[in-house]
Formats: sequence, structure tokens, C-alpha cells
Amino acid sequence: EPPCTLHITDEQAMMELGGQIACLLARGGVVLLHGNLGAGKTTLVRGLLRSLGFEGTVKSPTYTLVEPYHVAGRDIYHFDLYRLADPEELEYLGVRDYFRDDTLCLIEWPQQADGFLPKADLEVTLLHDGSARIAQLKTPHNH
Ligand code: ADP
Ligand code: MG
Repeated sequence: EPPCTLHITDEQAMMELGGQIACLLARGGVVLLHGNLGAGKTTLVRGLLRSLGFEGTVKSPTYTLVEPYHVAGRDIYHFDLYRLADPEELEYLGVRDYFRDDTLCLIEWPQQADGFLPKADLEVTLLHDGSARIAQLKTPHNH
């Protein structure tokens, strides 16, 4: 079936999509963020965290692989697996503790850890469309 497709005209609209996802997954979940460099994955996560009241810096944790946030009483983990050399590195980071029912995990470059991640509740694919973006949303039928 065709995925749900949104036209995201600017950075602000991408931030708002993040806020909608925070609302949709208020009880937690796993979100895979697909898309090339600059597609807007981190912008979406920034918008999600801002919508919950987080005012600090939000950047891709490219070197540390994961950045934990505690905001609005929620544990939120933002992964950027671009530089993951071996999926087993995730074990060393202790990420098993991060994937609890009540946490929200947002994962950039999930294909780097294929087979080592929990099942996704939502998959977002971001595509360039000039200065705009296309967002495709899918809820995998794997529960
Ligand atoms: P990624 O994490 O996918 O590599 P980022 O969110 O870090 O991407 O960067 C996206 C860049 O594209 C930012 O500099 C942002 O300002 C810019 N941008 C321009 N238009 C958009 C849009 N419609 N949605 C999201 N980002 C946009
Ligand atoms: Mg990023």
C-alpha cells in the first residue's frame, strides 16, 4: 500500500511534524528516520524536543551515536548511526536499556544497525524536493 505522504515546505513545517510525532507517540515508541544527509532528520527531532519544552541545542550525535534527553517527564533517545562501524557497538553503549516501552527512540541511519534494532512503531522517509521536503510515513505491520 502507498505510504502516507506529506509535503514539507520549510524547516518550520519539519519541526511541526516532529511535534505531531511527539504527540502521536506520547507513550513511547521507536521511530526510524530514513533520508540522505540534509534531508531534515535532525530538524524533525529538534522540533519534537522543542514541542515538549526543550530549549537547548539539538544536533546529530554523529560521534557519540546517541544523545539522551529527559524532557516533560519523558526519556527520549536520539540516535545517529551514520558512523556506526559494527552493530555490536550498540551493545557496548548499553542501548538495550534505552529501548524500553516507555521511552521514545528516534534513530537516524537505522540501516547501519539492520537486525539489531527493535521493531519500529513509525518509519519516516525524508526526501529532498528543492528547498522543500517530502515526508513518507509508515506504520510497519509487525506487531
Ligand atoms: P539530516 O539530519 O537529515 O542530515 P538536518 O536536519 O541536520 O538533516 O539538516 C537539514 C537542513 O536542511 C537544515 O540546514 C535545514 O535548515 C535545511 N532545510 C531546508 N528546508 C528544509 C525543510 N523543508 N525541512 C527540513 N530542513 C530543511
Ligand atoms: Mg542528522
